[in-house]
Amino acid sequence: MEKIRTLRGFRDIFGEELEKFKRIERVFRKYSDLLGFREVELPVLEKTELFVRSIGDTTDIVEKEMFTFTDVGGDSLTMRPEATAGMVRSYLQEGLYATERMTKVCSVGPMFRHERPQKGRYREFHQIDVEVFGVKEAIVDAELIFMIRMLLDELGIDRYRIEVNSVGCKTCRESFRKVLIDFFETRKSELCEDCLRRLERNPLRIFDCKNEQCIRVTGDSPLLFDSLCDECKDHFTLFQGYVKEFGIEVDINKRLVRGLDYYTKTVFEVTSEDLGAQKAFMAGGRYDNLVEEMGGPATAGIGFAIGVERLAMLVPASREKEDRGCFFACVGDRARDHLISILKACTTEGITLRYAYEAKSLKAQMRYADNLKCDFVLILGDDEIEKGIITLRNMSAKTQQELPLDPQKVVMEIKRQVIGNR
Ligand SMILES: [Zn+2]
Ligand SMILES: [Zn+2]
Repeated sequence: MEKIRTLRGFRDIFGEELEKFKRIERVFRKYSDLLGFREVELPVLEKTELFVRSIGDTTDIVEKEMFTFTDVGGDSLTMRPEATAGMVRSYLQEGLYATERMTKVCSVGPMFRHERPQKGRYREFHQIDVEVFGVKEAIVDAELIFMIRMLLDELGIDRYRIEVNSVGCKTCRESFRKVLIDFFETRKSELCEDCLRRLERNPLRIFDCKNEQCIRVTGDSPLLFDSLCDECKDHFTLFQGYVKEFGIEVDINKRLVRGLDYYTKTVFEVTSEDLGAQKAFMAGGRYDNLVEEMGGPATAGIGFAIGVERLAMLVPASREKEDRGCFFACVGDRARDHLISILKACTTEGITLRYAYEAKSLKAQMRYADNLKCDFVLILGDDEIEKGIITLRNMSAKTQQELPLDPQKVVMEIKRQVIGNR
């Protein structure tokens, strides 16, 4: 019979990669706690309308990449392609705007996009998401950059760039839209079909196009950054000042636009050349109109997401010596009678005890212990039982000693030697 396999673009995660995921989450939670973020868990499945309304119907995500289906009740549902939409929905649904002056929330979990799978890109991927609602001041923009910096430092990553830009507000974007349309009209013949459509509906999206010819055209275009309104200009200047005060270097990339419609003012991306062509592994920005557009009161917002798979590719392998625990080699029924009391004592004291579930020769059990690379082996046979002892072998120190056959004493001695091994 044919074996059932994972869906295309989906996969199992385990071993060293999963260890890195856990380390990333541990370090992240340390700083999200320190900086006052509250963790939430939101549904993976939401109404399709939520994403269409928040992300924007002319974006690649909504046009091509969502896992959308109709359920038995006839409703259109979508597996979340990103976290912010759900965070805004939850903020409104829980009425936090009425009870909190500002809200700092974060979340960790899987996202789904129906993209062509390629190296390091999967249809199910994991994001850490951070959002702040109710703060329009630029200092919070800088605080998020500081949070990113602390995270990357502690994870041991030093080859990266933080790129920042301002994509302005409705006022500056409206006047820039006209400038852009005028420019692209003169270069219409060079644009791809998608971009011709974008030119009608949302010319700013042309900057996202991956078509080489379109990239050449946008290379010559006027930039929104150069026509920001005074308010947006001041906000960006303040942001830069705060970032500098934190002692963090950022690069202004005037061409940086995020692939979603809702961003305003500050946007940023963290990139690494070590990741190849798709080099961004964290990205975010401000979305001061989104909460209102989703039916809430006018509320400023800013956030960012970390691509966990991509960040894990940059995390160096752990240098910590792994504790591989102890193996209990017991020969004969009388020896096996001691198994449960030794397993209980080890587990209670935080020592991993492994053993062969089925009766085997001492030689076979030693081979097994070797395979598992255990740090210690306990040996118990009829001879030891006669003498009331148990043998403890320290595999790394290559020493061996006899201990009284008493689980508590055995555990204490292993713990003492574990410290000595380090
Ligand atoms: Zn503006
Ligand atoms: Zn194009």
